Amino acid sequence: MRKILVSVIASALASVACAQPAAQAEAPPSGTPKLIVVISVDQFSADLFDEYRPHFTGGLARLSNGTVFRNGYQAHAATETCPGHSTILTGSHPAHTGIIGNTWVDQSLQRSDRTVYCAEDERVPGSSTTAYTVSSMHLKRPTLGDYVKQRWPQSLNVAVAGKDRAAVMMSGHNVDQRWYWDGKKFASDVNKVAPATVGRADQAIATALAVVREPLELPPFCQAKTKPYTLTPPLIVGAGRFARAAGDARAFRVSPEYDGAILALAAGLIQEMKLGTHSTPDVISVGLSATDYVGHGFGAGGAEMCLQLLSLDRSLDGFFRVLDSERLDYAVVLTADHGGMDIPERLRAKGIADAQRANPNLAATVVGKEIAAKLKLSGPVLLGDLGGDVWIDRSLRPADRARVEREAIAFYKAQPQIEAVFTARQIARVALPTASPDKWSIEQRIRASFDPSRSGDLYVVLRRYVSPIAEPGPGYVATHGSVWDYDRRVPIIFWRRGMVRSDRPDHVSTVVILPTLAAEIGLPITQPIDGRCLSIEGVTCPSR
Ligand code: ZN
Repeated sequence: MRKILVSVIASALASVACAQPAAQAEAPPSGTPKLIVVISVDQFSADLFDEYRPHFTGGLARLSNGTVFRNGYQAHAATETCPGHSTILTGSHPAHTGIIGNTWVDQSLQRSDRTVYCAEDERVPGSSTTAYTVSSMHLKRPTLGDYVKQRWPQSLNVAVAGKDRAAVMMSGHNVDQRWYWDGKKFASDVNKVAPATVGRADQAIATALAVVREPLELPPFCQAKTKPYTLTPPLIVGAGRFARAAGDARAFRVSPEYDGAILALAAGLIQEMKLGTHSTPDVISVGLSATDYVGHGFGAGGAEMCLQLLSLDRSLDGFFRVLDSERLDYAVVLTADHGGMDIPERLRAKGIADAQRANPNLAATVVGKEIAAKLKLSGPVLLGDLGGDVWIDRSLRPADRARVEREAIAFYKAQPQIEAVFTARQIARVALPTASPDKWSIEQRIRASFDPSRSGDLYVVLRRYVSPIAEPGPGYVATHGSVWDYDRRVPIIFWRRGMVRSDRPDHVSTVVILPTLAAEIGLPITQPIDGRCLSIEGVTCPSR
């Protein structure tokens, strides 16, 4: 991954090779930063941050010397990528961003596939959950970049990410450049002329992909984590080192190389678009997805995640050095869209006896079939996945819907792997919580994920440490999405050159990020948000 980062950046950056290192004694930050860099590391749980923090020596070590909230929270229940990214720069919970999941069921859709993708424009003819036109139309609140461009139209709002939904939900509606990798090349939904650095990044990836990648070297700390677990034979995880055949784009994405490529493009765009050199602040959102792909593919506790995080630390170091060489006055926020749960097999070996995989018969479609047979109804009856939002078939008569609801609640409540089930009516009566997010009840977490126009009729909560992946397969052995803190707790880190290291123990939700950054750059927030400005070094919160 260092190879890619160096090759793309180096070609753009010949002039910086001799840049002076920063002075040793640094003045505290003053004035407003000219560039806001917001980095989301997909599936970077606070548990992982805590564990690896002492081992970081690069970009993550640098950020660790800023203001660090190790008890940050994606406070809502549906801890998935799209909702998580929607909270980071809107200051709002999914209940208000409208992004209740990566997908949701819209029974009014006039197509066979009733599942809508969060960053899809389903009005485009032929659009489907998997073959869609990317759009921000489902996002109901403005982002930091939207506010910045409203206040200062000449400011630039840019996003780069490994996933389209990460780029869209962080940057919002009024965007100058937005790029994400589509599996073959960088793609954009924003109709603007592509900067030259995008073509160079595509070329650099093609060149890297064309050659075999030898297994990465294991540092001693990662060697200690190397222990193979055989899941569904021949699927083995725990000892992987990211060896890859030439041309294997899927393996490229599930590896540290991927974040290196995204950071290289971000650095190239900052340079080419001269972000941070204007009289008003610019914003770049960077979505780093490889940690999530590695977590899903191998779990969070083995050699693979160790190599990924130590590589990310180095890639971020290279990225920040480019910004330093440009002598930019930039402020960084780093957080995550959600945490994650390791494979139950390894968790049990570590003494978490409750860790287990879900019974596949708990999937909404399976439960729905049983209920339909019992009540002599036709149709799917229930729509949804294993845990989370469940929709009752709207084409049923009201009396039958009520019967289906009663049956479904009784079924779920009788299951040993189910913690609780709530109706939408119950959740709608709960007030959106404002207390410290570690104190929220399960109902309050679900309320923060609840949008009456999109949410299901029921919300099914799996017990703690029950993985919804009933049967692991290649690329998908572990996941996130639950109401539990291993999925909710994420680091929230604010950094700017010259800040004094501050470890903050308080529990705060990601909805604080927007108002805090807005205060840092003197930007008024004119619409309702859920978060409040945090008083940290360099930030004076507006009086209320
Ligand atoms: Zn994610």
